[in-house]
Amino acid sequence: MPKQSPIPDDFDRPFYDACNEDRLVIQFCAMCSRYQFPPRRACVNCTNVNLAWQQVSGRGRIQSRVVVYDTPTSTLIPDQPFNVATIALEEEPDVTMFSHLPGVPVDEVPIGAQVEVIFEATPATGQKVPEWRVVG
Ligand SMILES: [Zn+2]
Repeated sequence: MPKQSPIPDDFDRPFYDACNEDRLVIQFCAMCSRYQFPPRRACVNCTNVNLAWQQVSGRGRIQSRVVVYDTPTSTLIPDQPFNVATIALEEEPDVTMFSHLPGVPVDEVPIGAQVEVIFEATPATGQKVPEWRVVG
């Protein structure tokens, strides 16, 4: 399904530049050895502001999901109903990302299944964004 194009700023540009290279990078705090997403100015655990962008494997598991039948986002209405799943990253299961799980019918989402990241170009600008697909 077509997604809106995010406009990167100086703060989150490393994340979006990596997406355009088909790589997933997220913030890592060396002070407490933990990842975090979405990007923030400081570590939510220890307030360290010197966070590094670190590449992760792009593997995870489906943690939970809902089905959207009535979105207020006009561009997504033609795709209703659609999945919104949370993906727990392999490196840090507390870090989650959202996915529409392209190709997975609603009400057939395999909770706990392994997924891998893919990158989809958004129509307005070509900026790539992460999406997830079930492995195997
Ligand atoms: Zn920290």
